[in-house]
Amino acid sequence: MNDDYSFSTRAIHAGQEFDPTTGAVVPPIYMTSTFVQDGIGGFRGGYEYARGGNPTRDSLQTLLASLEGARHAYSFASGLAAEDTLLRALLTPGDHIVMGNDVYGGTHRLVNRVHVPWGVSLSTVDMGDLDAVRAAIRPGTTKVLWVETPSNPLMKISDIAALSAVAHELDVIVVVDNTFASPYLQQPLSLGADVVVHSTTKYIGGHSDVLGGALVLNDDEIAEKVGFLQFAVGAVSSPMDAWLTVRGIKTLAVRSERHSLNAQTIAEALVGHPKLDAVYYPGLTTHPGHKIAAKQMKAFGGMLSVALSGGSAAARAFAEATTLFQLAESLGGVESLIGYPSEMTHASVRGTELEVPENVVRLSVGIEDVDDLLADVLESLDRL
Ligand SMILES: *Cc1c(COP(=O)(O)O)cnc(C)c1O
Repeated sequence: MNDDYSFSTRAIHAGQEFDPTTGAVVPPIYMTSTFVQDGIGGFRGGYEYARGGNPTRDSLQTLLASLEGARHAYSFASGLAAEDTLLRALLTPGDHIVMGNDVYGGTHRLVNRVHVPWGVSLSTVDMGDLDAVRAAIRPGTTKVLWVETPSNPLMKISDIAALSAVAHELDVIVVVDNTFASPYLQQPLSLGADVVVHSTTKYIGGHSDVLGGALVLNDDEIAEKVGFLQFAVGAVSSPMDAWLTVRGIKTLAVRSERHSLNAQTIAEALVGHPKLDAVYYPGLTTHPGHKIAAKQMKAFGGMLSVALSGGSAAARAFAEATTLFQLAESLGGVESLIGYPSEMTHASVRGTELEVPENVVRLSVGIEDVDDLLADVLESLDRL
């Protein structure tokens, strides 16, 4: 695949050559756990056993690497499986990790309740404060700086290039969770990050029908460790999941444009609404991270949150009132979803520094007609 092709072209063609046997335009799903050998060790195309490699997973991995302009990509059964594999590759007991104080609740839980008991230490810090980040890094001991931008659910923006510069001065590896932006809107490796993490369950899959995760990177040494752990631990994506994810990616560019347009329209319509204290969307010029977001993102994405002036009761009522915006966990699908973070996605971080205010409601703006979506939101707010 020619790397000079633009994103939308690569999203459809990278790793997706037609089937040479039949000419099928869409490569088949290789539903097989093992591969016949032409004599012992005579592997066809290098395939031996599906935990080590399967052509459908390879086609997804080639595509994911191409989308981020990277040398290596590995796909996993879930975003958290990808994260766990990466953390095992980068950290050993005694090492220290610094994370944003607004990372995805499940990421914090994974480190705090699985890796910390194993002997890793964790600090959380405001990634918008470069001096605080520098102060949190313990030279020689801190191995990883974990950044998530835009963050969930308050849509805080962190400056990937500036954070990478600070971390690299102190030999710290920079990981960016790029789930909310997707590779179409943001390319962390080109901004200086070392590893990109995705929950492909969200925008990359895009249709709320598959769970998956990915690691994308250029560094050969880290890639070798990740590849070994993917094989040795085995949290791989299934052929069916990999194929569904590839199918989703083909429309990532057009979906991302529409998600961003719809969310921008809704965010602008909600600013100053009497039932709301705040609208959190990086596409608003009043958002504190707007300038950095405009610099490092192609558009501002489909996620926005609002703070209800009526407190937790109003927030709960709003989350339960909408019709098109269905009440559910997750995000990034073509259909709009609404969630109440403090008891749903972020229940695991209640009582910690990462706790989400109780009046916040999160919207994953889908690609339905924006007038229908806006009417649903406004009518539901009216009824409060
Ligand atoms: C959902 C999510 C994850 C975890 O991914 P799973 O596929 O649910 O395991 C990690 N980071 C972010 C930002 C997410 O939204």
